Amino acid sequence: MTTCIICHLGIIEGLDSSQDCPNGHLAHTDCLKEWLLHSSNCPLCRESYPNRVIDQFKDFIDQKETEKLASIKNEVKQEEIKKMEQVTSKIIFMKFLESIEILIKEGEFEYALSRLDLHNNGSTSIQKGHDILFFKGKINYIRGRFDLAINQLFKLVKEKYDYPEGFLYLGKAYEALGLNDKAKWAYERVK
Ligand SMILES: [Zn+2]
Ligand SMILES: [Zn+2]
Repeated sequence: MTTCIICHLGIIEGLDSSQDCPNGHLAHTDCLKEWLLHSSNCPLCRESYPNRVIDQFKDFIDQKETEKLASIKNEVKQEEIKKMEQVTSKIIFMKFLESIEILIKEGEFEYALSRLDLHNNGSTSIQKGHDILFFKGKINYIRGRFDLAINQLFKLVKEKYDYPEGFLYLGKAYEALGLNDKAKWAYERVK
């Protein structure tokens, strides 16, 4: 039995519709239709298919190309939307941190902490999680809960070594407890 050069399954004469290349290599019509989206040469001998073969599938190929273009355009658009959303969410988070700073200045520590906890419950990125941890540590340092501050800030710098402010407040908290060696170690990592 003749087999299709594309799918390698049999071509049943009188039942399957097939097309051949100039060298007589047979392929199912449906298989060839898909193949022509990628190439207009025979997959076996690389001979070009004659126009009379290609023309039969012109509408199909045009439609697929239009669809492909539309899908690429859509992807670009989705990408743009995603970027916009990221920027917006970043701005919102910065505003949120500003409001935390204000609460700290006003001495509203409990309220600031509860707001940080609330924010952390949502889907938070790793970076935002680090900033939240930093502010918790900073607040606990300011309100004299040095043990808690050390706990949180140590967890932070362990996860993110490049966080100078984290090391700064960690050092301050160690210093407040008289742990001068540890404070020195933290301060050396502030830069
Ligand atoms: Zn086939
Ligand atoms: Zn061929």
